[in-house]
Amino acid sequence: MQERDHNLVGAVAAAALLALGVGGLATQALAQSGPGSGQGPTQAGELFVADNLRAIFYHELGHALIDRKQLPIFGQEEDAADVFSALLIDALFDEQSATDMAYSTAFGFLEEADTLAAEGGEVAFWDVHGPDLQRYYNLVCLFYGANPEDRADVAADLGLPDERLDSCPEEYDLAMASWGPVLDEMAAEPGGRAFVLAAQGAGPAQSVIGEELAALNRQFALDRPMTVRVEPCGEANAFYDPETGEITICTEFADELAASAPAE
Ligand SMILES: [Zn+2]
Repeated sequence: MQERDHNLVGAVAAAALLALGVGGLATQALAQSGPGSGQGPTQAGELFVADNLRAIFYHELGHALIDRKQLPIFGQEEDAADVFSALLIDALFDEQSATDMAYSTAFGFLEEADTLAAEGGEVAFWDVHGPDLQRYYNLVCLFYGANPEDRADVAADLGLPDERLDSCPEEYDLAMASWGPVLDEMAAEPGGRAFVLAAQGAGPAQSVIGEELAALNRQFALDRPMTVRVEPCGEANAFYDPETGEITICTEFADELAASAPAE
């Protein structure tokens, strides 16, 4: 299980605490990382799926909060949602678990890029999302920038060039200046009911998101509950629907992630 950072008084404060914390640099392979090292390939694959499902949910939560709170976004909304996901990965977990998640989700973007290349597809520069490799580097940059003292090895291990490295702490500060007040507001009255799970059937997506929502409900509150559906959709997708105000995580996404989990 992931070790969560339970002292989330305020996201900005928590991030500052983490930045001051003793960092355990994780440069080991995915299978050897996480609680209970010596995990087998299956457990590593499950961790990859769970970490990516969480990061995808955080991304959709970014969209949901932008809509519900009418947050001004000066740039592409998809980028803002990615930034929010990266900030939560940094803020919600202890150093080791957060580092594991950063590796998993970074590899998730790499897998997408590799799959596209293997299929002979071209990068869709017109797409509302940034190219997968750019999303990869943006994630690594923000994760490094959140704690540069302890994460230089992570950034090097994940191939972030020096040309980008220098600006990452400032990029993180700007991201926290934008999203920090939103997180602080959510964390100000913990113990309320923020998220309601509406799951169909049982499987990894239902259990991962169910546990995630329960954990978030212990730390965050919203002005009114937000429903998160986990159900079959006929495609590997996840989305926020502004019409209903609900987030949907398609169970097919877990299947696709399991199929693309890095082999050992
Ligand atoms: Zn999105």
